[in-house]
Amino acid sequence: AKMREDRIKKTKTVCTYCGVGCSFDVWTKDREVLKVEPHAQSPANGIATCVKGRFGWDYVNSEKRLRKPLIRRGDHFEEVEWDEAIQYVAKRFTEIKAEYGPDALGFIASSKATNEESYLMQKLSRQVIGTNNVDNCSRYCQSPATKGLFRTVGHGGDSGSIDDIAKADLVMTIGSNTAESHPVLASRIKRSHKLFGQKLFVFDLRKHEMARRADRFYQPKSGTDLVWLSAVTKYILDQGWEDKNFLDEWVDGFDEYRQSLEKYTMEYAEELTGIPQEELKDLAKEIAEQDKVAICWAMGVTQHMLGSDTSTAISNLLLITGNYRRPGTGAYPLRGHNNVQGCSDFGSMPNYFPGYEFVTDDDVRKRYEKAWGVDLPKEVGMDNHEQIKAMHEGKLKSFYVKGEDTGIVDANINYVTGGFEKLDFMVVQDLFLTKTAEYADVVLPACASLEKDGTFTNTERRIQRLYKALEPMYDAKPDWEIIQLVAKELGTDWGYTHPEEIMEEAASLAPLFAGVSYEKLEGFESLQWPVHEDGTDEPLLFQEGFNFDNGKAKLYPLDFQIQYDVTEEYDLHINNGRLLEHFHEGNMTYESEGIVRRTPSAWVEISPELAEERGLKEGGEIKLISEAGEATGIVAITDRVKGKELYIPMSANGKSAVNFLTDNRVDKDTDTPAYKEIAAKLEVVQKK
Ligand code: SF4
Repeated sequence: AKMREDRIKKTKTVCTYCGVGCSFDVWTKDREVLKVEPHAQSPANGIATCVKGRFGWDYVNSEKRLRKPLIRRGDHFEEVEWDEAIQYVAKRFTEIKAEYGPDALGFIASSKATNEESYLMQKLSRQVIGTNNVDNCSRYCQSPATKGLFRTVGHGGDSGSIDDIAKADLVMTIGSNTAESHPVLASRIKRSHKLFGQKLFVFDLRKHEMARRADRFYQPKSGTDLVWLSAVTKYILDQGWEDKNFLDEWVDGFDEYRQSLEKYTMEYAEELTGIPQEELKDLAKEIAEQDKVAICWAMGVTQHMLGSDTSTAISNLLLITGNYRRPGTGAYPLRGHNNVQGCSDFGSMPNYFPGYEFVTDDDVRKRYEKAWGVDLPKEVGMDNHEQIKAMHEGKLKSFYVKGEDTGIVDANINYVTGGFEKLDFMVVQDLFLTKTAEYADVVLPACASLEKDGTFTNTERRIQRLYKALEPMYDAKPDWEIIQLVAKELGTDWGYTHPEEIMEEAASLAPLFAGVSYEKLEGFESLQWPVHEDGTDEPLLFQEGFNFDNGKAKLYPLDFQIQYDVTEEYDLHINNGRLLEHFHEGNMTYESEGIVRRTPSAWVEISPELAEERGLKEGGEIKLISEAGEATGIVAITDRVKGKELYIPMSANGKSAVNFLTDNRVDKDTDTPAYKEIAAKLEVVQKK
């Protein structure tokens, strides 16, 4: 019995399933994951976890994990040794760069992988290849929120901590299915609501769990959040309810902004959003009366053609009412992936070096050129959306994507995979042979989080360490090692022996992380950026002022143009989002038996009214057709949706994948696909 006990190991790790960033010890025996054990000192979650964090680990040992590197030979893959795969990748990169130049190559980092791995992906792209064509999937979700905050307050992250959300007098959630997408954070809100009288107002198309609990639930028409936000802000100003002292001391651009609000009358807002004026006036009064307001939002805001502007409108409202800089206040874009914050923070973006310094800034570029010993590209690179377009135009010839199933998660699957088919060379680095990997020339087997060291950054800007609990399965390697092998084969030997050295380098170059060190992140310790040279961090941002030269925030005028509507032919609006049990497109959770048993198949939520009108029965099969493509699904009749609103879980894959329906429309400021703006028509496949 003692022998067996000896083999049980406890390792601190951070959950990979959402941006809350729950940390816990994982108990393992050999490769078996026995249980997870959160601790009171787990900074984001205390002793809580949700079903994914608790049971979602089987995928690590899935039989379907890639065993060896694969090289395409005609229409099949052949298993090869690492040397051969890496040499082949380097050879093709070199040839393509020689023939078409460095900008014919594109790189996508993974928001599920570590900060150090994001840092290396952008370093490979910039230093070794010589292009800024590097991006990550924050472009699919939260870039608009980041944009809105950069414009107004200067830092693109949550203003405070989850604790601050819990301390607010009023929490507003907009376009966030918080209970399913950020379960542990939602429980904090539920607790404050139930025990401490916190008010909860929910804005969504769909009456989900949080909406049912809320003190008030508003269902504005799809894509019109900007309108009610601006109208409410205008009304607050018209009534003289704004925070005058805060505006005097901390905010620039008032006059121009005030003027820009002219069109956002209550009549206009009612007409566009469908929310009665009296309710909006009352909402304005409530917001103005509360001392501490925190606003959380997610993809229901960002994945629209006006995603950045709507995020900006949220920040404008918070500024007018003085809801920044104090505990219990602020802006909280809720990050989806475990490390979507960190992946952008550490520079896998076409316009930013690590820590959001522009690649176009000569001084910044010189700093990196000095450290890396090469001239770096001066022009902003292509984001992932532009890269797909460039494949179609024949400008992008090579594509290296790690830890992301681009062929499922990007909008308009047929268009995206059509782009892959035009490439000369494609490398996919992942745990499984994903849909995207099927288009690759080389597939490289990567490690799961439990098999490597590194750091993740959660939605609160909190950097946390994860420690290696298991040896890599089969021949897999951690992403950072693989990228380093590619760089070395291309002639640049970085010589890192541990991710800690990568973080040291990032901290020495990016002021945002100046004081970050593995020592300060030991065990359950964490740091919330910016981390200053002396090692102090900023759990609550903007204490010393906003992140602009004069320390003042900026109000940002916005002009709402009607962007989207259903048509006579495509008369239904398709919404989509997460399920509690599944992670994103489901690549990992579908490999976890415990989870699959709970939620076996995908469905389409249909309102009782629509079901009645079209004669649909529970369990019948329908086909949805948009201008971009079609998807089939099983009918689930529910009052969570109303009228002609339909909802598809985004973990649905195969023929049900929602991205067969999405098209190429994007947020105008960030190129984030307007996933939530799909018009479709419906055909009955099987009545049941
Ligand atoms: Fe925590 Fe999110 Fe993981 Fe659930 S999925 S345990 S809420 S980090």
